[in-house]
Amino acid sequence: MSGVVLQKVVKRFGEAEVIHGVDLTIEDGEFCVFVGPSGCGKSTLLRMVAGLEDTSSGSIHIGARDVTHIDPSERGVAMVFQTYALYPHMTVAENMGFGLKMTGHPAQEINRKVAEAARILKLGDLLSRKPKALSGGQRQRVAIGRAIVRGPEVFLFDEPLSNLDAELRVEMRVEIARLHREIGATMIYVTHDQVEAMTLADKIVVLRKGRVEQVGKPLELYHDPDNRFVAGFIGSPA
Ligand code: ADP
Ligand code: MG
Repeated sequence: MSGVVLQKVVKRFGEAEVIHGVDLTIEDGEFCVFVGPSGCGKSTLLRMVAGLEDTSSGSIHIGARDVTHIDPSERGVAMVFQTYALYPHMTVAENMGFGLKMTGHPAQEINRKVAEAARILKLGDLLSRKPKALSGGQRQRVAIGRAIVRGPEVFLFDEPLSNLDAELRVEMRVEIARLHREIGATMIYVTHDQVEAMTLADKIVVLRKGRVEQVGKPLELYHDPDNRFVAGFIGSPA
């Protein structure tokens, strides 16, 4: 059981409060998408779940565990970023296995997990290539592969496709949906792309100025937005 529960989560940077007491429940295995304008706090919330930012007050649970003050590496989460800094001197396989190698996992186990991730992401033929010999979409697949090999309970994606061109974005969107079906892990996905939100989400969370504006299934928000703000992001054009 690895749902994510945020209770009265507040984030302050110095004097400035940017997240104002967010309550949110993401069910085990759910694909939850955060949308909202630039600066509304999507990345900050995601980074707090990851443990990359501390929580000023409130609590974060993953499954039954209170992880609010737990080290990122102990939380059972893996994050995929918009910029997928791969190590240029390492092969695809080495890039994917590097985290496990650093934490002392045996080579045999690393190879098995890398092979499994490569199968899921259709990277099998590219394992011995260096990043410079990959397309943008293939590089982003390797970045996702790095997350998969760690076997996280929760995947966190921060606008992972926004650096890709339109055609690749569609292709990768399909891949990510397939990944979710196949792995079934809880996923939290930040995007400003309405189509990504509508097609990937089980649940959409609309954020505005550090608060949750509305939560619902894509079609609920589309047909029945609470207000113009939500309609502007998700709502039907009518
Ligand atoms: P989004 O991802 O929705 O664009 P962010 O979570 O990056 O928004 O930012 C939310 C707010 O927090 C913004 O006002 C931003 O300027 C502020 N912020 C984010 N990170 C920091 C930081 N390290 N120090 C100070 N302010 C920050
Ligand atoms: Mg952001």
